[in-house]
Amino acid sequence: MLKDELTNEPLSNICYEITKNGEIMHGTTDKNGFTELIIDDSAFDIKINITCEEHRHG
Ligand SMILES: [Zn+2]
Repeated sequence: MLKDELTNEPLSNICYEITKNGEIMHGTTDKNGFTELIIDDSAFDIKINITCEEHRHG
């Protein structure tokens, strides 16, 4: 689950980017702050960036 670092509230319906092994994947959280993407335990070098800027999908 992704949480706000300050409030500890779940981050719902926000965009994020996961950088996994140098590959960037884009996703959004659901209302409970859960990510759509399953992070493989075998992956290394994972970074999650919350995307705050306005942008379009597709
Ligand atoms: Zn997005």
